[in-house]
Order: sequence, then structure tokens, then C-alpha cells
Amino acid sequence: MSAIDGLPPLREVIARHDLRAKKQLGQNFLLDLNLTARIARAAGDLTQCDVIEVGPGPGGLTRGLLAEGARHVLAIEKDARAIPALQEIAAHYPGRLTVIQGDALQIDPLAHVTPPIRIAANLPYNIGTELLVGWLTPPQWPPFWQSLTLMFQKEVAQRIVARPGGKDYGRLAILAQWRCEARIVLTLPPQAFVPAPKVESAVVHLTALPEPRFPADARVLGEITRAAFNQRRKMLRAALRGLHPQVESLLEASGILPTARAEEIDLERYCALARALSAARATAAAGARQE
Ligand code: SAM
Repeated sequence: MSAIDGLPPLREVIARHDLRAKKQLGQNFLLDLNLTARIARAAGDLTQCDVIEVGPGPGGLTRGLLAEGARHVLAIEKDARAIPALQEIAAHYPGRLTVIQGDALQIDPLAHVTPPIRIAANLPYNIGTELLVGWLTPPQWPPFWQSLTLMFQKEVAQRIVARPGGKDYGRLAILAQWRCEARIVLTLPPQAFVPAPKVESAVVHLTALPEPRFPADARVLGEITRAAFNQRRKMLRAALRGLHPQVESLLEASGILPTARAEEIDLERYCALARALSAARATAAAGARQE
């Protein structure tokens, strides 16, 4: 039976190209084209956009993105075995799919796409967080992308959207929510994939805000959250002691109890602390210059 886009069913594609899943490449394929269409729809209106897809594999999500009207898809796949299967899709959608074989951690996609740009992917789990952190920390804001629609292990998805007060809340939540709207749009059981992974998965949709929710220097905010959450059981006055000699008064000036712990503090207060620390360091540096 041919699928909705006139291309062969994915099981047939996988058999014909001998695409047996390899664990070391994080390969868990989605074979249900209704599901990949749902993920593509969650990415928003694609008709005016170029979409970057990391790890297209046999092309289930790629087909969803193209069928949903993506202007152009740039698909970056490490596994050479998948390239001929992806070229068949490219032939079916002339001029709308570019396939690059290589490592998404090494390739700069920007030479191959035109704004507006969205990113959509069923990510290889071993590099998913690294790719996300890279996309969330570009050299300038707003970033080159409008939105990210990404499949993660459910536990990672929960850490991205977590609110203060629980064990999921940490650096990833702060990094993601400082400059993005982030929500889980779909949760999937292991059986949705071939082969089935051990854990549940979830799709997170992140939309880039035009500017951060609260002003702060990205580097200083990162420094604070790293120190705070690396010692999340300690009181902040102890966990942040190395950042500034008067850290306790900086905490108080930012509306934070020095005895509080990292997971109790919301984004607004972390940003206030980042501004206070930047200002205190600037004052100290100006004083040192005058001496
Ligand atoms: N998108 C397909 C789907 O939904 O069925 C496949 C998803 S599978 C979870 C992850 C894909 O990423 C695999 O095709 C794998 O070969 C590819 N991959 C793994 N590491 C990669 C890397 N460093 N760069 C690009 N692709 C990679």
C-alpha cells in the first residue's frame, strides 16, 4: 500500500535500503506517517520557512515536513546508508529537499538555508541536549531560528519545561525559558518507535522570544546557574560563595534569601542576581583602575 504522499511505506524503504537500526547512532525510527505529520504540524506554519532537520534517517519526519508544505528542508544525516532513501524523497519534491551527509555537531547549516528558519527533529538521544544547548546559546539574540520542535526522552523534555520547586528544575529550564516559550506538545510511548527505546519520549516546541524575559548577561547567568545547581542541596550563600566576596548581600539585594536552595529560585530572581553580580564586578573593576 502506498502512503499518503505517493511514496512507498517506510517499512519497505527500510527493508530495501537495509536500514537496520544502529544503537550507536541513536536510531529509533518513527514509521507512522500520521504521527510524523502531527509533529510537523506542531512546528507551526512551514509554508514560508526553511526547515533544518537533524537525523532524518529513513525520512518519516522529512516527509511530514514536506507534505505540510515546508518551503525547503535541509536534512543532515550522519548515516550514509540513509542517503539513497532520502534522495528518493528529494526526487519526489523537486528543489525542496537538500540532503547533507555528515555530523550535525560539525556542520554549519546556515550556508544552506534562508530565513525564516525553523528546526524540527527526532533527535539522536546521545547528542540531543548538546544540540539544544548550542541552539539556545547563539552569538546573538534573536537567534537564526524562529522555533525548535524537538523529540527528546521524556525526562529531558520535562527538564526543559520545568518550573521552580522540583527536581526537574535546573540549568536547562532556565536556559530554555529565559529567551523562549517552551512547552511539551506530544508524549509518545516506546512502541511508537522501531526499535522501541526503554523510555517514553516527548516533543518540545520552543519559540524564540524577540528578547529575553528579563535582562541579564548570558555568560554571568550561566556562571550563576552552573554554581547554584552543581551544589543544589547547599544553601545558595554557600553554593555561590566563589562568585563574589559579598555574595550574601548580592543575594539579598536580588530578593533571594541566602539560605534558599537553587531549585526554589525563579528565572526573574536569577536574572536580578546576574545583574547585581555584573554591577558589583564592574564597580570593583572601576575601583581597581583608579588605584
Ligand atoms: N528522523 C528519523 C525518524 O524520526 O524516524 C530518525 C530519528 S533517529 C532517533 C536519529 C537519527 O539521527 C538517525 O537517523 C541517526 O543516524 C541520526 N544521527 C545520529 N547522530 C547524528 C549526528 N551526529 N548528525 C546527524 N545525524 C545523526
